[in-house]
Amino acid sequence: MRDVLRHYIDGAWTEPLGDGTAPITNPATGETSGVLALGTSADVDRAAAAARRAFATYSQTSVTERADLLAAIAAEYERRAEDMALAVTADIGTPLAIARITAQAGVGQFRELAEALPAYPFEEHRGRSTVRKEPIGVCALIPPWNYPALQMTEKVAPALAAGCTMILKPAEIAPYSAQVFAEIIEAAGVPQGVFNMVLGKGSVIGAALSKHPEVDLVSFTGSTSVGVQVQKDAADTVKRVTQELGGKSAHIILPDADLTSAVATAVTGVMTNSGQTCAAPTRTLIPRARRDEIVSMIRTAVDAVTVGDPLTPVAMGPVASEQQWHTVQRYIQAGLDEGATLVTGGLGQPEGAKGGWFARPTVFADVTNDMTIAREEIFGPVMTLISYDTVEEAVAIANDSPYGLAAYVDGGDPAQVRDVAARLRAGQVALNGAPLDQSAPFGGYKQSGNGRVWGIAGLDECLEIKAVVGSAS
Ligand code: NAP
Ligand code: MG
Repeated sequence: MRDVLRHYIDGAWTEPLGDGTAPITNPATGETSGVLALGTSADVDRAAAAARRAFATYSQTSVTERADLLAAIAAEYERRAEDMALAVTADIGTPLAIARITAQAGVGQFRELAEALPAYPFEEHRGRSTVRKEPIGVCALIPPWNYPALQMTEKVAPALAAGCTMILKPAEIAPYSAQVFAEIIEAAGVPQGVFNMVLGKGSVIGAALSKHPEVDLVSFTGSTSVGVQVQKDAADTVKRVTQELGGKSAHIILPDADLTSAVATAVTGVMTNSGQTCAAPTRTLIPRARRDEIVSMIRTAVDAVTVGDPLTPVAMGPVASEQQWHTVQRYIQAGLDEGATLVTGGLGQPEGAKGGWFARPTVFADVTNDMTIAREEIFGPVMTLISYDTVEEAVAIANDSPYGLAAYVDGGDPAQVRDVAARLRAGQVALNGAPLDQSAPFGGYKQSGNGRVWGIAGLDECLEIKAVVGSAS
């Protein structure tokens, strides 16, 4: 058993004031692996007071001091990368090989900002004024559970870079990675009170943070419904709220695309992390004239996805929780009920699965964009293939969604690929299988959110703008 029972407040591992706990479950076995402390709003008050006290000094540190601190965290994170990867696998069942990549992405966020910070224009002259960018204050950081090694980092790194202090509320179902993360921050020498972590439920800790008068910014990543609640809770105190929300991202495979590469992008994009990726290309738009060929290629690729114990070399582990497994089943049933063609996979557990919350890699074809499985985020290993007749129609279908997080375009004519990308209402568009770029801003149009994370764009969110007019001389 491995328990996570203490908050990290004001530079110390701190017993919660209440006595609430919840079991921690290993999704690959369904068994209880430890106990998590559930904090209360009184714990939030202590953390907020510590963060407010520390802001007085940390906000005055030099850029060089903060860049050195980020570099020290990156080095410590690198040293603990394997512990982080194992914690992610224990938390949510991500295959270890992929968890290792996400831990390195976490290191990369700190390294990227450590390098970019010295050149950032904290002060500019415009007209008769000096325009200064100053840290916004105390930040409440609320990440989801699906890529904890990266999602805690993408909030903490820019807040530290800006000169802000913070309270992290990790997702309840990813406590081991949160524990390792806080240990990294402590070992790297982050000053007392600058980084605080309060464990517990979003409905309690997250809500207390969103309403708290000492909190200046809430950086939230999660579902659109909770993101809306956070915005409402923060409204009375006029906080800045940045939201990274859900998605139903379209992947347009143009008629002249290299199908081998496009199919690999489509299948890997959805199946990685059991489909629990906000930016996953979950609506695959395929030219009707090549429907049979593409469906057959996708079926072959999906049937080759190995599912099993995430500590072994499999492509896919379980989904993250019992609740998530039932959600996925409900959506597969909706696909069947609404008349989509089941190409492979379906309800239940994959053959040979023992214990744990394993779902079947599933593909639906002949989906129309009005079906539930094309409208709503499933957050599971379920592909929906939508056939189109013209490129014009493909763009219209792609944009016909309440979401606008990511998009993907594959095609043989670079000018056409870029033209289609320009017409898509999404925060990030990846062309012809381009790999992730962590220096590029990441965030959503429409109901996929407000604000951006990663690199300089993430730093901008944590800064206030002050105009100093005149020179006083
Ligand atoms: P979620 O249920 O919305 O939870 C996200 C976080 O908010 C968790 O830490 C949760 O705490 C907390 N929370 C819950 N209720 C709250 C409240 N009333 N006030 C404040 N915080 C509250 O989302 P999830 O199930 O963890 O994650 C999946 C969703 O996140 C998907 O929709 C996915 O698309 C989205 N996502 C978006 C991005 C992006 O960058 N756009 C990235 C990853 C995921 P507890 O769960 O611990 O109680
Ligand atoms: Mg949740």
